[in-house]
Amino acid sequence: MEILEKTMNGIQKDTKPYYRVVGKEKEIFMAAYQNRLPILLKGPTGTGKSRFVEHMAYELKSELITVACHEETSATDLIGRFILKGTETVWQDGPLTKAAKEGHVLYLDEVAEARPDIIVAIHSLTDHRRMLYIDKLGTAIKAHENFMLVTSFNPGYQKGFKELKPSTRQRFVAMSFVHPSADIEMEILMQETGIEKSLASKLVKIAGKIRNLTELGLTETVSTRLIVDAAKLINAGLPNRTAVQAGMIQPLTDDEEVLKTLITLSDLMI
Ligand code: ADP
Repeated sequence: MEILEKTMNGIQKDTKPYYRVVGKEKEIFMAAYQNRLPILLKGPTGTGKSRFVEHMAYELKSELITVACHEETSATDLIGRFILKGTETVWQDGPLTKAAKEGHVLYLDEVAEARPDIIVAIHSLTDHRRMLYIDKLGTAIKAHENFMLVTSFNPGYQKGFKELKPSTRQRFVAMSFVHPSADIEMEILMQETGIEKSLASKLVKIAGKIRNLTELGLTETVSTRLIVDAAKLINAGLPNRTAVQAGMIQPLTDDEEVLKTLITLSDLMI
């Protein structure tokens, strides 16, 4: 059976996951939750979407089940399937069924990557019915009152032309995640990695410069995640420049010319 990545796997963390609020995202999440409206988080990779969901699930004292969607993820993976146990065939709930039954937060990360049949599967759960139809069992279940569906989508992704249909998007309360301001990003960096302010400032400035180089045509630019990674490499003892190259620049592209430009630029800045 295909293994779906599940972070926390339905377990409430002991300490509140650190999340630095950037805008009105917490208020919007809570208002949506009060109305049991599903949420769509839009934005580039590494902008804190997953961390935000972990943080909110903790605040709601709710368990969180995360499914990292990819092109093979199907409705069966989410709803469940019959498996062979010894000589018996038994039904095993998928993460969606488990979350709907038990009242957890289900986070479908990169939902547009999954097969289209998952949209059909979540259809009746995303409107007033809040019902999940399990065709293979010939049953329908009403979602637990605490069940909450959160999805994410990266609109900047160009390679697969994976888009969400307007009719699907309109089932969600949506909010955009963007790169935070330099001050907030420094704060996140220091909190996440413990690096000192002057170094945090340099790393954030390099990221800002690269983000402004739109003419390089990078599909995705430096995210907060990459800056955090570079800082972690520095903490592990790598020289600053090596850490910036490996953590922030090499992951961006394989184009030799672009890499050279970015490395020259960052070397001048740190
Ligand atoms: P996404 O789900 O958008 O790809 P993540 O939530 O995995 O991004 O964020 C990547 C990393 O960036 C996190 O592990 C964290 O270190 C850092 N990060 C980004 N934004 C924030 C934020 N607002 N508060 C705290 N950490 C953040």
